[in-house]
Order: sequence, then structure tokens, then C-alpha cells
Amino acid sequence: MTVLKKPIISILGLTLALNLSCTSGEGKSAGISNADSASDSAAEDSAQTVSVSSYEAKKFIPNELGKVMVLEYHLIGEPEDRWRRTPANFRKDMQFLYDNNFYPVSVLDLGAGNLNVPAGKTPFAITLDDSSAGQFRFINKNGKLEIDPQCALGIMEDFKKKHSDFPLTATFYVLPAIKPNLRLFAQPENKKQKLEWLIKNGYEVGSHSWYHVPLSKLNDAETQKHLGMFVKEIKEFLPKYEVQSLALPLGERAKNKSLESKGSFEGTKYNHKVVLLVGSATSSSPYSKKFSPLAVQRVQAGDMDWGIIAFADQMVKNKTRFISDGDPKTITAPAKLKEDLNPALASKYKIQWVADTASTK
Ligand SMILES: [Zn+2]
Repeated sequence: MTVLKKPIISILGLTLALNLSCTSGEGKSAGISNADSASDSAAEDSAQTVSVSSYEAKKFIPNELGKVMVLEYHLIGEPEDRWRRTPANFRKDMQFLYDNNFYPVSVLDLGAGNLNVPAGKTPFAITLDDSSAGQFRFINKNGKLEIDPQCALGIMEDFKKKHSDFPLTATFYVLPAIKPNLRLFAQPENKKQKLEWLIKNGYEVGSHSWYHVPLSKLNDAETQKHLGMFVKEIKEFLPKYEVQSLALPLGERAKNKSLESKGSFEGTKYNHKVVLLVGSATSSSPYSKKFSPLAVQRVQAGDMDWGIIAFADQMVKNKTRFISDGDPKTITAPAKLKEDLNPALASKYKIQWVADTASTK
């Protein structure tokens, strides 16, 4: 999809006021399955309804069934282009998100609904595809290797240091066997060191497949080969690491979709708990019955009309933004969204509906 018309400049002020959305606090675990569980009625029984007026003083109304953004970056460098974000703009994006009450979470936590987000904030996740050097570059400074402050990782690390209340993380969807300029961050002598650095420092290494062949072009055996070989190649560098998510090359689905998440090639198994599509759309809340962790939408990061600011603006205008209630064990949302809740979650969480009057049930 494309399309909002204008370059929106909005200030998403924090006053998402009537944007009824709430949040998931720490560590909710959705256990996602849209299974038609029998817990519907149990949910009704235990759900509470509170009045919208109880949030007056807080300037936000939780909506944990609202939309979230999984941002999708490609090249980081000069000049700005359709598939390239400049370092200055990447930094600007971090600032925008910080200033507008967004809060970083990992792709895996988002996929599992395992969210620990302060009250009033909106979770988002960062993904970077194709492992170019601009995402993670070492520079030699007086004989010592340092992370280039102008690469995406350098910018995130710097931003994190300056904003301790903004625990940035990201998933790097890497390519182990493609042409050298996209192969594991394009500094062949540092491949292992970089992958190790990422997982030791709270980042995720995800599969973007063996060398970027769209899965739609492969038969079942080939699909498993391309996803299995990714795991095999990564294990050469990170023997104990479990690859847990996949960003589909070009967003194209496999002929047999079940092979996107699970399969094996010559004894090497893969098991992706999250599978990402290509932008452009916001994702449903992980607590929504519309959400599937095996087909998560992403938003392309750029200044285009379907970029971050445009979507963020849209979420506020349409009152569709996810807003955390700050309590990981409770799912809070406007009563009018009752139908959206994944019924399988009703037995795992306390459910709280916000209505115009407390008596509405
Ligand atoms: Zn790609």
C-alpha cells in the first residue's frame, strides 16, 4: 500500500489523548495462537470495565489493541534514496520516536506479545535488512577497531547512551552468501566478530535467507535448503545461537507457507517464531485476533508518504495507536474494541475495558 498524500509534519504530541490504546507492560506473554479457545466466556466473566474518566489525569487512555510499527531499514549511507537512509536521518528517526512517546522492543518480544512498555508509550521495533556495511562498520582508530559512529549501530549505541530510558535494540536480517557488498556487513575479516558483538549486546541476528532468493521462486525442497543453509552458515560463526526470526526476501511468500517457519535441510533445522513481510503497513497489536507472528507487517523507514512519520501521524489521527497501560499482566483497551481481542489470551491476562461510563459492561 502506499499512500497518504502529504508529507506530514505533525507533532505527535504526547497527547494522544483520545487515542484509546493501552499497553502491555512488562513481560506479558501472549502465547499467540488464534486458536478458537474456549475461553471466551471466561474472559467475559473476569473482564473489568473502568471509566474513561479515570484516565483524565494521565493524559492518555490505554489501547493495547492499537497498531504498532516494525520499522524496516535497508542501506544506511549517502545520499538519501528510496532504499537508503542517511546517518543524519537515521538519527533523526530515533529522536522523533523518542520525542513522541514510542518505546523500543525486540521483534521477538513483539511477536510473542511479551511486552514491557511504560504506561502511555507505544512499542515499536527496528529491523535492518541485507547486512550492508553502513549498518555495522568497524573503523580502525589508532590501531584499534571501533564501531563507526556513522553506521546504524554506532548511532543506536550513541543514542542509547544519551537516553537511558530508551533501550534501543534491533534485529539485523543478514545474508551469509550473497555478493560481498552485502555479505555479513561487507568486512569479511570481521564477520564473526560482528555477529558475536551483536548477540552479546542485546541485538538479534535474523535470517534474510541464504542469499536473498524470493521464496516464491523456489519449490519446497529449495525453500528448506535456502532457509536451512542460512542457519548452517550462521552456526559456523555462532555455534550455539538459535536463529528465531525471518524477514522474507522482497516480502515474497513461499509456495508452502508453513515452510517459512519450520523445516530442515540435510539435518539442519530451522524454527522461526516470527516471520516478517515487507512494508508498508502498521502491524496489528500482538493481542489482537488479527495478529499472526508468522506474517508481521512492516513500515518502511523513510520520508516518503508511507514512512514512519506518515504512519505515526495516521495512528494518532485515526486513534489507532497502541498505548501501554504499563502493567504487563493486564491488557487494557477501549471497550469498543472488545471484538478484536484474541480470545486465547483471556485466560492468561487480566482484561480491562475502558468505557465512557464504568457501568457499561
Ligand atoms: Zn532484502
